[in-house]
Amino acid sequence: MLAILVHGFGLHNRILGYALLLATTLMFVGALFVAKRRRNPPARLSKGPWMRLPKSLLAFSVSFFVATLPVAGILPENFGGWLLAALLALGVLWGVSELFFGMTWGGPMKHAFAGALHLAWHRRAERFGGGCSTGLKPLDLEDPNAPLGVEKPKDFTWNQLLGFDACVQCGKCEAACPAFAAGQPLNPKKLIQDMVVGLAGGTDAQFAGSPYPGKVIGEHGGNPHQPIVNGLVDAETLWSCTTCRPVSRNAR
Ligand code: SF4
Repeated sequence: MLAILVHGFGLHNRILGYALLLATTLMFVGALFVAKRRRNPPARLSKGPWMRLPKSLLAFSVSFFVATLPVAGILPENFGGWLLAALLALGVLWGVSELFFGMTWGGPMKHAFAGALHLAWHRRAERFGGGCSTGLKPLDLEDPNAPLGVEKPKDFTWNQLLGFDACVQCGKCEAACPAFAAGQPLNPKKLIQDMVVGLAGGTDAQFAGSPYPGKVIGEHGGNPHQPIVNGLVDAETLWSCTTCRPVSRNAR
């Protein structure tokens, strides 16, 4: 937001400049921690596009920091000439592309947007107080016309779908899942990502984390209108869940 105000709307105010310098410094430090984490990532962390995230964050924070120094009055307006301007433009383009195209085309930064909205419209706000409600609802077995849960991705509510997009693929659920540890064909992280695939349409070939034990990545797919079971996800994957809840206790 500060970057948009200062560099998008041209509000070259010294206080805003210093605030943006502080924000980009904090972002740079955070990006260094992410880079350190990604140097030798544990198996539970997804790889793929997530591996380029620290580089994008570093490019974004360094470019905006240097570009803001003249706004704060620390460097003269024309410092560095066209060469520095071109380098900064490249860095800004890289960082901004990661932010905006990543959000809209399913890149890692999608979680930042979806996660904030998911927290605002969380379906089980009682969990913020320490509860571990799963939101499971009893089925109406008396009414033959009552829906039995969710059949297709489009049957999820909008904020359930938002919750899938908010997943950062940290793998805490994978590490806490006893079925996964026991080699059963279930990985809660992949199950969430399969629901993301189901909404967008396609296959799970791009998933860059651990597969369901014993299942090959790339052989499952679906779309919002296709039944989930035995398309996106095999029935045995769902039956591997024992509803033991360590995932909902440990993965907050
Ligand atoms: S713990 Fe939550 S955010 Fe992390 S991978 Fe599992 S579902 Fe995604």
